Amino acid sequence: LERNLMNINELVKQMYPIIESLALIKKHNCIVKLDKNTPSVLMDSAQIKQVILNLCQNAMEAMDEGGNLTVETTFLPAKGEVCLDIKDTGCGIPQEKIKSIGVPFYTTKAEGTGLGLSICFSIVDKHKGRIDVQSQEGQGTTFSVILPIER
Ligand code: ADP
Ligand code: MG
Repeated sequence: LERNLMNINELVKQMYPIIESLALIKKHNCIVKLDKNTPSVLMDSAQIKQVILNLCQNAMEAMDEGGNLTVETTFLPAKGEVCLDIKDTGCGIPQEKIKSIGVPFYTTKAEGTGLGLSICFSIVDKHKGRIDVQSQEGQGTTFSVILPIER
């Protein structure tokens, strides 16, 4: 882990061009909401960018054409955390499958590797953070990356 003080908003901005160009392929809308109060956190920028990309790719793959991808940051001062939500209006994850999320090689895709999420979980774990998943079948899914503010 190569950690530097970095603002999550800055990483979202750096990733925006690639996310937007991937979204274009399936005519998805990309909505970005950045909380300007979000403080910088010690993190490995390259690895967190990988997490953002993996979660956005999954979100876009879960949606039919013209879906809405929302990337939102929030500062939770009372908890000492910064939160990054990747929200889609896709197929959702059945309740009984939620526990398989992040298990290496679990995939429901014909050409999937099932490795993207397990890599995301291990990266965020190394940052002493966590990833929460909220999903409604047929409605969509939100992955929340929560990073602690250490000092
Ligand atoms: P892969 O994308 O190669 O299948 P991942 O580890 O990235 O592997 O994801 C594992 C599985 O989790 C996917 O195959 C899919 O079933 C489910 N999944 C991940 N993200 C989403 C999402 N945003 N909406 C619905 N299902 C998802
Ligand atoms: Mg994936």
